[in-house]
Amino acid sequence: MAETPVALVTGANRGIGLEVVRQLADRGYAVVLGSRDLAKGEAAAKEFGERVQACQLDVADSASVAAMAEQVSRTYGRVDAVVNNAAILYDTWQRAVTADLAVVREAMETNLFGSWQVTQALLDPLRASAHPRVVNVSSEAGSLAAMSGGTPAYSVSKAALNALTRLLAGELKRDRILVNAICPGWVDTDMGQGGRPVAEGAAGVVWAATLPDDGPTGGFFRDRRPLRW
Ligand code: NDP
Repeated sequence: MAETPVALVTGANRGIGLEVVRQLADRGYAVVLGSRDLAKGEAAAKEFGERVQACQLDVADSASVAAMAEQVSRTYGRVDAVVNNAAILYDTWQRAVTADLAVVREAMETNLFGSWQVTQALLDPLRASAHPRVVNVSSEAGSLAAMSGGTPAYSVSKAALNALTRLLAGELKRDRILVNAICPGWVDTDMGQGGRPVAEGAAGVVWAATLPDDGPTGGFFRDRRPLRW
């Protein structure tokens, strides 16, 4: 009998992350629902039953990331999909020339370094998987081709996340780990109020988390279609 696949989703107590958990659970995954507030994570996990376990995870806190990785290794021994979804600071109506760099640093800590250290911490359990995948939930706001100002902290953090995606994909090819950046589109969450239904945005993320072995790596996609970097 095939082993139950295991996924870890960051920032999964609400929004797109929670919907990614739902869709992965529907596909038979055991899911670790990362939430920086454990009580919120446990409340969100309740509807799914035992297959979804909440875990305290602040991606900007290296001790929290290390504890999560230890828990994943101890409980499952591997992870098949890591979804770096947590992000902050859609800083609308700001300009790079006047941006508060403390705010930019804050965005980088979560959106770039958070995803980076979660991935590093889970490399051993990823290597223990037969079909390992990493998904960096990004945004077209981080596309150099489309960048026109307006959200400097957020855009720079997502452009850097896209660069990281390319580097990791190249370096992890030998480990068969597929690494892709996904833009969910404009989605109706606290961050993207008024956008399309969350299930539609999450579907592209789940696609990248469940790619076949001959699927793409080092790509940037929305709705399964390539986006310009
Ligand atoms: P939300 O603001 O609705 O949710 C963000 C989630 O990230 C929350 O669960 C939040 O937790 C969590 N989070 C924030 N900081 C941390 C941290 N340090 N550690 C762990 N978790 C953290 O955002 P969305 O669901 O809309 O966005 C999900 C992803 O999709 C993000 O990467 C975003 O950039 C991307 N995206 C979204 C778009 C949209 O239109 N919605 C468009 C393009 C990209 P808490 O509840 O504790 O605050």
